[in-house]
Amino acid sequence: MKFGIDIGHNCSPDTGAVGVSGKREDDLTKAVGTLLMKKLAAAGHSVINCTPTTAATVGESLRKRVNKANANSVDIFVSIHFNAFNGQANGTEVFAISNTSKAIARTVLNEIVKLGVKNKGVKSTPFFVIKNTQMPAILVECCFCDSKVDMDRFDAEKMAEAIKDGLIGESDEDEPKPDKDYVLKITKPTVLKPSTEQSSELSKDTLVDIGIGGYPILDFRYEERHYWVKWIDKSKGNRDEHFVFDEYGKIEEKQ
Ligand SMILES: [Zn+2]
Repeated sequence: MKFGIDIGHNCSPDTGAVGVSGKREDDLTKAVGTLLMKKLAAAGHSVINCTPTTAATVGESLRKRVNKANANSVDIFVSIHFNAFNGQANGTEVFAISNTSKAIARTVLNEIVKLGVKNKGVKSTPFFVIKNTQMPAILVECCFCDSKVDMDRFDAEKMAEAIKDGLIGESDEDEPKPDKDYVLKITKPTVLKPSTEQSSELSKDTLVDIGIGGYPILDFRYEERHYWVKWIDKSKGNRDEHFVFDEYGKIEEKQ
């Protein structure tokens, strides 16, 4: 998936709201947007930073964001903002126009709400950047930068993680939590694969050699006479990945 990330404002004269105790929307969007880009890239997605560096007017700043997303044919456009009103209003809302965009907006909103932020809903105000981008597009008002309630709770890392989870559907809730420990027992050297295709039909770099031994398993499903496993490869820095293996191994309860 190719994401176009738009860090709201940060392009004078396009500057954002100023909130409580010196909190500036520009700083907050930059913190969240930068972390979000890193997280999406770390999850294997391509990321296009759609934030312009210079513009003569606010209109030009907005047009440049849209043009960058359209020119790069990103799959989903995400604009990051923080709201401001009267110091009392608080909460999160996500803007989207098409039905596809609204579905994405809803999953992102739900993840942000899990952080304890008040749910102000999915709304369809046709802001310039979501109206003129040619792909599903959302504008996230993470929370209010002039609300003490929201700012006391705000954590850029958690906000970016929530938006990422909403975008790529990896909610912590779905993290496998097996009630017992399982190991993948490999009895003959073989490969782990990204799909149930024959390994001869897959490109070499998608295959992972796996030798005889026991490998810790986080989760598994048996499909098409292959196991789909989420496993830990200690030799590669504890990363976990989704791979499939066949008759070369068997899942056993840890002794
Ligand atoms: Zn804004």
